[in-house]
Amino acid sequence: MPRPEIVRPRDLAEAVRLTAEGGQPLAGGTDLFVRLQKGGTRPEFLVYVGELPELRAIRGTEEGVEIGAAATHAAILASPAIARVPIMGLALRTIGSPAVRHMGTLGGNLANASPAGDGLIPLYLLDARVNLAGPSGERSLPVAEFVHGPGKTALRLGELIRSVTVAFPRDGAQAYFRKVGRRRALVIAVASLGALVWLEEGRIREARLALGSVAPTVLRPREVEEALVGRPLTVDALAEVRNGLSAAVEPISDLRASADYRRQVAGNLLLDLASRAAHSALCGQGG
Ligand SMILES: Cc1cc2nc3c(=O)[nH]c(=O)nc-3n(C[C@H](O)[C@H](O)[C@H](O)COP(=O)(O)OP(=O)(O)OC[C@H]3O[C@@H](n4cnc5c(N)ncnc54)[C@H](O)[C@@H]3O)c2cc1C
Repeated sequence: MPRPEIVRPRDLAEAVRLTAEGGQPLAGGTDLFVRLQKGGTRPEFLVYVGELPELRAIRGTEEGVEIGAAATHAAILASPAIARVPIMGLALRTIGSPAVRHMGTLGGNLANASPAGDGLIPLYLLDARVNLAGPSGERSLPVAEFVHGPGKTALRLGELIRSVTVAFPRDGAQAYFRKVGRRRALVIAVASLGALVWLEEGRIREARLALGSVAPTVLRPREVEEALVGRPLTVDALAEVRNGLSAAVEPISDLRASADYRRQVAGNLLLDLASRAAHSALCGQGG
């Protein structure tokens, strides 16, 4: 099948106009070209946003960092502004291969809205905001409102993701990210867990959990997060809430794993978090 024409807008405003005229945004192409190859999508033309300076910038501020939608995973990993958000590094480092991380962008990961999207886990943990630019101006949504389901987002006709804003979490958080797949390299997660945990006098003061591939979107199991408060971060203590976590997820069975297996893996990942904490193997976060 012939590849659609690729149009290169001069700036964001032109990109928005072209997208409103029916063009599909193209950033790194690591997902879109695969889908085009399979005949899964047939856009009239592609709007290449991957080199627009407005979309590539990564800006640190006092409170956090604003990451342009077309910033590649590799650029984000190399950015000094990200040093204060180690959970981003833990998750983005697991995406694909070095080549995929050099081409693929955070905006593309987000627009795909895959429940297995590794870049989404830190965004849910950090309550990131997604900044959109469209024909009627700009708007901003919490990530959990932006993602509606697999491949479904709040994007309206002509809208582009401009950037993502992440606030630095309170000092003292420990960060965890792990995904389980069917092989070691180039893994699409069968289940994944990201966590931020704050301890006070040996007990959990606040816990944030985000699970991938176990529901139609990345999931924050709020009841489990609350149930963790006051417990020590040990395998025995977390084993008590493990069933609650397995009950909170809504996995499907597919080619990669059954729903039951995914449920089990989600519970095991919670215990792995505690086991790593016991070996001081969590990543310090935000001071
Ligand atoms: C071999 C391989 C391994 C992979 N491994 C992983 C992995 O481990 N984890 C993971 O999460 N993903 C993985 N991926 C998927 C992919 O690399 C990521 O999702 C990547 O971040 C997509 O970014 P992109 O810039 O390439 O998106 P593109 O392919 O350019 O676009 C993807 C979608 O996003 C839309 N889009 C892009 N930019 C914008 C924008 N600014 N505004 C609105 N819509 C936009 C496009 O129209 C398209 O629908 C893998 C892909 C491959 C090919």
